[in-house]
Amino acid sequence: MTETHEKQEEEKEMGIKKIAEWTISKEHVTVPQAEVICIEPRPRYKTEEFLATSRAPGVPDTNIYPGGAMELASNDPKHALDKLAISYDKHGVRRFVLTVHEDCGGYGERMPYSYDKALEFMTEELRRARLALEGYFSGRGERPVVLTYAVMFDGVYEVS
Ligand SMILES: [Zn+2]
Repeated sequence: MTETHEKQEEEKEMGIKKIAEWTISKEHVTVPQAEVICIEPRPRYKTEEFLATSRAPGVPDTNIYPGGAMELASNDPKHALDKLAISYDKHGVRRFVLTVHEDCGGYGERMPYSYDKALEFMTEELRRARLALEGYFSGRGERPVVLTYAVMFDGVYEVS
């Protein structure tokens, strides 16, 4: 029996099968920033394209959740904050980009339909998310850069 055949038999017994092979370097890479984006493909595609042109070179830590920064802006942001802390602690990320987008299914009926009201709502959400993130890190004596973007179907607004 060949080694490959033996391995295949073993995998079969375990109920697993290697379906692709590659080599990924385990060398440390610089992660330019962590991004929080909604799962929805249309605004996500444009947002990722925009962020790629506005960040330092490198592959970011991408956090894709329904609603984007919605959970960070909620009354219970701990789960989302703890995940972003991994980027800070393990990847040396010091810059976070939080986004929400117009017409978001993650927000459902909470998201106003009119352009102006939606933008106002998203602005408030992003400010809440920023406060949560800044508060979390200031509790640890740290001050990462936090950028907040309201993604519309006709462009993107930076919220300060
Ligand atoms: Zn969405």
